[in-house]
Amino acid sequence: MPNLQRMCRNGFRGVARGAIPSFTNVNNAAIITGAPPSVHGLSGNYFYNQDTGEEEMMNSSRYLRAPTILAEAASAGRKVGIVTAKEKLRDILSNAAVVHGAIAISSETYKADGVSPGRNPEVERALGLERPEIYSGDASIFVLKAGAELLEKGLSDFLYLSTTDFIQHKFEPEAPEAITFYEALDVQLGRILEAGALVGITADHGMNAKQRPDGSPEVVYLEEVLENFGFPGCRVILPITDPYVLHHGALGSFAIIHVPASHNPEEIARRLRLLNGVTEVYGRDLATLKLELPADRIGDLAVLSGRNVVLGKNPRAHDLKAVSSGLRSHGGRYEEMVPFIFSERLSDDYHSLAQGDTRNFDVFDFTINGLRK
Ligand SMILES: [Zn+2]
Repeated sequence: MPNLQRMCRNGFRGVARGAIPSFTNVNNAAIITGAPPSVHGLSGNYFYNQDTGEEEMMNSSRYLRAPTILAEAASAGRKVGIVTAKEKLRDILSNAAVVHGAIAISSETYKADGVSPGRNPEVERALGLERPEIYSGDASIFVLKAGAELLEKGLSDFLYLSTTDFIQHKFEPEAPEAITFYEALDVQLGRILEAGALVGITADHGMNAKQRPDGSPEVVYLEEVLENFGFPGCRVILPITDPYVLHHGALGSFAIIHVPASHNPEEIARRLRLLNGVTEVYGRDLATLKLELPADRIGDLAVLSGRNVVLGKNPRAHDLKAVSSGLRSHGGRYEEMVPFIFSERLSDDYHSLAQGDTRNFDVFDFTINGLRK
């Protein structure tokens, strides 16, 4: 990756802390608002809506409670371009910005058959790319390709490019498929740098193998555990749940529990904390304070699991065939730290800031205000 290497050498390379749960929607929303989940409102990909009594996907911009940097930049006259791999993310990120003229496209619906809210025929004609398969590395390479073309053709001068983690779920970092993928990403990064862009790179979350030495998934099934403890009727929500189950089988290192009035949440928390593989358990108040989560969109308990452990509901609820080639996933504390890389050196002020508890959602601030140009 010569282009990334050059950024690290000539610019800045550090680490930053993401938002918990370490999931896609939560962290992308944080990055485009510059704020934690308690402010922007997204607590996962999936949640139990206590107002309606329904479990819902949290994959629409109507869940966002904060204005986005992208919409502000577009309304200030910047030519904003937003490219995502997944269509659900395009909708969350771009709604307000599109009103102000931003271009927003996704790999998933680019030149798709039929009408989709994500399609933009004018941009499709201008870019002339082909739609990649969503379960592939190409879905992410497309994102950077489209970004490079938007810059080169003068259609955008302010970009947010968000890739998907299919390759990272499926392959460990040293696997040939992963190396080929990163090599192709780096070619596109080179085009973006060549076009004169100031570039900031961070991630929504890390990734770890969540399996035993024999390759089988290491799962703590919380509904089953709670029943065995004598607490039936708890509702376990897995906020990693999304339409792309081939990635992870809805198994991640973060879970929410809604406790019926007949049980005491504190007593359940005490029992769960002693369980092998469970690393942290918070009641609603502490989850709001320490994990910066929106109090009305979580449950009575938030549970995090270890580096090689995921949390499930019960064995019947998960199709482990989807992850039979190995389970790599995220969601917890062990996937919280992510790269924080810039194409130019940081100013003295921002260099000092970067020595502290920098957050991945400061990436726009650093790129716009913190680079020596
Ligand atoms: Zn993922």
